[in-house]
Amino acid sequence: MTVAIRTPVAEAPSKPDGIADALFHPTGVDGVYARTHLYEDVIERLTSWISSKREPGTEVLRFPPVMSRKDLERHGYLKSFPNLLGCVCALHGTESEIRSAADSHESGGDWTASLSAADLVLSPAACYPVYPIAASRGPVAPGGLVFDVASDCFRHEPSKDLDRFQSFRMREYVCIGTGEEVTAFRDRWLDQAASLAGELGLTFDVKPASDPFFGRTGQVMAVSQLQQALKFEMLIPLHSTEKPTACMSFNYHREHFGETWDIIDQTGAPAHTACVAFGMDRLAVALFWTHGLDVDRWPAAVRDVLKF
Ligand code: 5GP
Ligand code: ZN
Repeated sequence: MTVAIRTPVAEAPSKPDGIADALFHPTGVDGVYARTHLYEDVIERLTSWISSKREPGTEVLRFPPVMSRKDLERHGYLKSFPNLLGCVCALHGTESEIRSAADSHESGGDWTASLSAADLVLSPAACYPVYPIAASRGPVAPGGLVFDVASDCFRHEPSKDLDRFQSFRMREYVCIGTGEEVTAFRDRWLDQAASLAGELGLTFDVKPASDPFFGRTGQVMAVSQLQQALKFEMLIPLHSTEKPTACMSFNYHREHFGETWDIIDQTGAPAHTACVAFGMDRLAVALFWTHGLDVDRWPAAVRDVLKF
């Protein structure tokens, strides 16, 4: 497996003047933006570029921005990232109960006090809904399964930074199979990291990483994840070379999701899983930050790859 993939880390590019106004309209909430045509055109081109990398035999699924609350609870998300979760709430009850809760807003009351949880959460990652679907199909066929999934994702971490949104788009390739099959899948993607970033003209570094597990027990989980080299990130210097931005991640979950969802391989053993995630919004912001706001002046090779 190639791990220490590095290009000489150049100076972080200077942020183009007016980048926020050219790409986004504020909505009054940090990290939640309306997107301009200039920006969405690049998102669409990136989407097609990622599709062009799809391996043969991959099944395509697209998910809504919400998923089953029960499924996310079973995933163990409340143990790992309770601080990031957004839960859908609604006004339940009779017509008069709902009317009086809603009307309390007009008289300066707090209508939200009457909310209770619906059976939905906002999806925090694009791959979560795929594991119960795979489990429902019985033992994983020899060779494993590969999915191409995408969804809008939510993480409750308000920030004014252009590379940290509360609502952002994630595209993932997910592999489910034996340990050998899924590590081979992840290593194929890690080995491609240099050419992926190179095609987009982005300076990058790939480094072992850990997820931001919550609290003190979370720190132990993060250390264990690093020690087992389960997660790598493609880091692109935007603000600074010291604090680069994770624009892609390469994750090996071992048999964690296989056990959680009773996904089994041909021998009856829990399946292993891995996913490769493209942060669509971060990649698009990185492109504008690096190459400027005038797409006509982007490097010819990058324009070719994105089919301008
Ligand atoms: P992970 O599941 O590895 O934390 O996230 C996968 C990818 O989603 C990250 O590599 C990143 O590109 C993208 N991502 C994660 N958090 C954020 C965020 O707060 N804002 C944006 N724009 N993208 C994010
Ligand atoms: Zn994933």
